Amino acid sequence: MQLAICSHFQTHCLAGKHNRHYSLSSMDAIGAGAEKRTAISKKRPRRTTQPKPKIEVPTSGDIEDFSFSKDEALQIRASLLEWYDNNQRDLPWRRISSSSSCGFKEEDDDDEREKRGYAVWVSEVMLQQTRVSTVIDYFNRWMNKWPTLHHLAQASLEEVNEMWAGLGYYRRARFLLEGAKEVVEQGGTFPETVSDLRNIKGIGEYTAGAISSIAFKKAVPVVDGNVVRVISRLKAISANPKDAATVKKIWKLAGQLVDPFRPGDFNQALMELGATLCSLSNPGCAACPISAQCHALSLSRQNESVHVTDYPIKVMKAKQRHEFSAVSVVEILDCQETIGPQSSSKFILVKRPNKGLLAGLWEFPSVLLEKEADLASRRIAIDKFLQSSFNLDLKESIRIVSREYIGEYVHVFSHIRLKMYIELLVLRPKGNRSIDYKKRDKESMTWKYVDSKNLDSMGLTSGVRKVYNMVQKHKQTDQGTIPERRRKPALRR
Ligand code: SF4
Repeated sequence: MQLAICSHFQTHCLAGKHNRHYSLSSMDAIGAGAEKRTAISKKRPRRTTQPKPKIEVPTSGDIEDFSFSKDEALQIRASLLEWYDNNQRDLPWRRISSSSSCGFKEEDDDDEREKRGYAVWVSEVMLQQTRVSTVIDYFNRWMNKWPTLHHLAQASLEEVNEMWAGLGYYRRARFLLEGAKEVVEQGGTFPETVSDLRNIKGIGEYTAGAISSIAFKKAVPVVDGNVVRVISRLKAISANPKDAATVKKIWKLAGQLVDPFRPGDFNQALMELGATLCSLSNPGCAACPISAQCHALSLSRQNESVHVTDYPIKVMKAKQRHEFSAVSVVEILDCQETIGPQSSSKFILVKRPNKGLLAGLWEFPSVLLEKEADLASRRIAIDKFLQSSFNLDLKESIRIVSREYIGEYVHVFSHIRLKMYIELLVLRPKGNRSIDYKKRDKESMTWKYVDSKNLDSMGLTSGVRKVYNMVQKHKQTDQGTIPERRRKPALRR
């Protein structure tokens, strides 16, 4: 195995300042993980398509040789917990998981236990999505709506998706709901151990460790992106942090460190240190409570060409797939000839399939294109879709009031870069004829009409919200007027 302990050989590998060729997106992604709890699973580390970084020095030790001595662990626990006691952020889920009324007492009843487990579960899943400052608001709204696991178990997927709107990766929200139902169906006793928690759908190693240690005081480790960074620096590990062997070892090292008496606090302290002081690019080593045990810091003091930010080494992300779609924001006016703000109109929303990307979420009618396409080709694709799905024959059954190109928007998912071409298509039924709903493709697709008032308050994915906002902005710059007499739709680009 090509690994090295840098104290002996001052290896630079592909780390820090020695590697300038990362793409902006990969650096952004790494930066964004500075606070976000990127769960690091022992079982399924994220795969990358990049070759493993080349280690330039001979192997002086295997990653298996890394360990914390008892003394080291004792010192790190004491210093880190003291720092945490004085510096921890006041966060709503911490109030629930550690307030005196919810302390860790043997005599705690099931409700108290469930309350702690549920709060930690929800907060940890949200923290895997975004920054703490954003999560606070989402968490408070969520707990107001579903204060207990039993309340959540009664919710519909649609409600949960609405509440989750804007956090992204909606599968996690669905798993929370399905997990809550599962626990309730099995009698409502909240599992406490990692192995029992892992049996619940959607709970992985990270979330199980967090719930078990924070809510139930079990001495188990938790490893997220922040913990990987701190431990890699403490031990100056120059192995690829995405490798299964490295991830497994870091879990083991975290297990050696975890405080047996205050495991939840210790795990949160380690993650908090990584999210604040031991940041990705600008660590505050001078104020760090465990600087005396930090091997990377000691190396950097011995040799000016070594920096603590060289650890962990940076690995380029897998390349994103480029996709293109034509999005048609279809607005249907009522039969009256009213135009402008007084007119009532509705938008068509289509439900995505229950499997795959953004499963079960609402979006404007759209067609995935094989490649980048010009305006005419996109319109042909959209027209075909509207005809086959809604029986909307744009030449016969309905009048096109206006059809305007709004713009492009690129939405970036973890593995896909989706470029959307957006148009606003305003339609009015001919005469007093309404659209022939009977022929719509109900079997294969779910859809609905929503007026703008409801659309404004609906929980939409950030991509759909962006599209809608672009349309609204466009309408405002056009002062809300729609050229009703346009028989031939204008081709505006
Ligand atoms: S001394 Fe610096 S690099 Fe080491 S753990 Fe502390 S903040 Fe991180």
